[in-house]
Amino acid sequence: ADLPRSDLHADTVVVGAGPGGYSAAFRAADLGQSVILIDNGDTLGGVCLNVGCIPSKALLHIAKVMDEAEEVSAHGVDYGTPSFNLDKVRDWKKSVVSRLTGGLKGLARKRKVTTIQGFGTFGGPNQFVVSTAEGKKTVSFQNAIIAVGSSPVKLPFIPEDPRVIDSTGALELEDIPKRLLVLGGGIIGMELGQVYQRFGSQVSVVEMMPQIIPGADKDVIAPLMKRASSRFKEIMLQTQVTAVEAAADGLIVTFKKGEETRREAYDKILVAVGRAPNGKKIAAETAGVAVDERGFIKVDRQMRTNIPHILAIGDVVGQPMLAHKAVHEAHIAAEVIAGHKAAFDAAVIPSVAYTDPEVAWVGLTENEAKEQGIIVKKAVFPWMASGRSLAMGRDDGLTKLLFDPKTKRILGAGIVGQNAGDLIAEVALAIELGADAEDIALTIHPHPTLSESVGLAAEVFEGTITDL
Ligand code: FAD
Repeated sequence: ADLPRSDLHADTVVVGAGPGGYSAAFRAADLGQSVILIDNGDTLGGVCLNVGCIPSKALLHIAKVMDEAEEVSAHGVDYGTPSFNLDKVRDWKKSVVSRLTGGLKGLARKRKVTTIQGFGTFGGPNQFVVSTAEGKKTVSFQNAIIAVGSSPVKLPFIPEDPRVIDSTGALELEDIPKRLLVLGGGIIGMELGQVYQRFGSQVSVVEMMPQIIPGADKDVIAPLMKRASSRFKEIMLQTQVTAVEAAADGLIVTFKKGEETRREAYDKILVAVGRAPNGKKIAAETAGVAVDERGFIKVDRQMRTNIPHILAIGDVVGQPMLAHKAVHEAHIAAEVIAGHKAAFDAAVIPSVAYTDPEVAWVGLTENEAKEQGIIVKKAVFPWMASGRSLAMGRDDGLTKLLFDPKTKRILGAGIVGQNAGDLIAEVALAIELGADAEDIALTIHPHPTLSESVGLAAEVFEGTITDL
């Protein structure tokens, strides 16, 4: 009765329909809540489904098939030079995305989750104001879940120019520029760089840090660095872009490495320097929700903000900005609202770069162990000793496991090679279960699979394999 008069009301209102938002809405509905899901996009699914995880993986799949077709020619099967229809590639990518976003619509309908297309801002501690195509609508709630995600970071010294694109622009695949500069050698930059290289661009990558994908260990990155270096025009490390000038015949970029500067022209620049949370855009102060100066919303282990009936999940609550983290948090938020004793208690969150080769890591990295003064013992199984990898025409992977030398418990892993992203899940489970080297080494892995490399690395630790 104390709630403000609103056009619509639900027990739980979720703002943002990315992996966090739709997962929270569906779980809340399954737990018996009435739910309204607000998103300003044309389709449900947020960044991940529309302009992130899924379209990038669809394009990487095509790039990989093209690479494999080329490489198999060395083994006696020649497909010739591929002909390339960019319109069809684009259509296929769109069709993958629409199958998934269409599926979400069906799932929402089935659960009687009401969806509103529009931009939501807080109108008070129990109300959202949503700007829709038909005007403003007010929505009141008992509980709210903020799942507004993040947006690509813009660099102030880069001019507004159609030739400067972000990941969303790159995924549109408008054209294949002759000279592409990827600004930022993180996961998104490397994935999209490989797509454009395969489709014919001369790709250069510039990264400020001493290595690409700085979150992963150097030995795990090495095979990717080797393959990308042989295909890209160049990968500039410890190099900063200090200026970009929009000229008629190209974007003139100034690079600074140490004391040296140089200039070079590109046809397009893909800015992939990270993502910023959308927390400042929702008038959170109207509801009393604290947002930090960067736009992150702080939450406790139950995903509650400083205002207990307003929860937040996904990219907007912090790193790592990954879809599976958002989904996990979403389920907790919905369960907490339903009165369950749920809390975020995951031991580890795996990270994956779906590059070729794939790079995946989970738990403690060697870099982190060093920084934090944690003593670890590592065991490495190089994939040149993997029959399956060789049978796939590749010898450029490795599986590295990090153990506590005293308890032999597994603390972390880095895997690089084909399907590393799938393989890392086993180690995530092992860490969650508190497995030790013996548990992993004594688990029978199917032969010949890449998953064997995890068991074999544990055997290396145990000393049952010595001669590799
Ligand atoms: P988002 O997916 O960002 O969704 C938020 C939604 O809220 C959006 O639809 C937005 O329009 C909407 N919104 C925002 N503000 C409002 C408002 N005020 N009112 C209404 N609606 C609003 N992660 C992985 O785990 N694996 C990958 O392979 C992967 N690949 C990626 C590739 C690219 C190119 C990019 C850009 C990202 C990738 N990510 C990947 C990251 C992943 O997309 C995000 O971590 C994930 O989407 C975060 O989910 P979320 O629910 O927090 O928010």
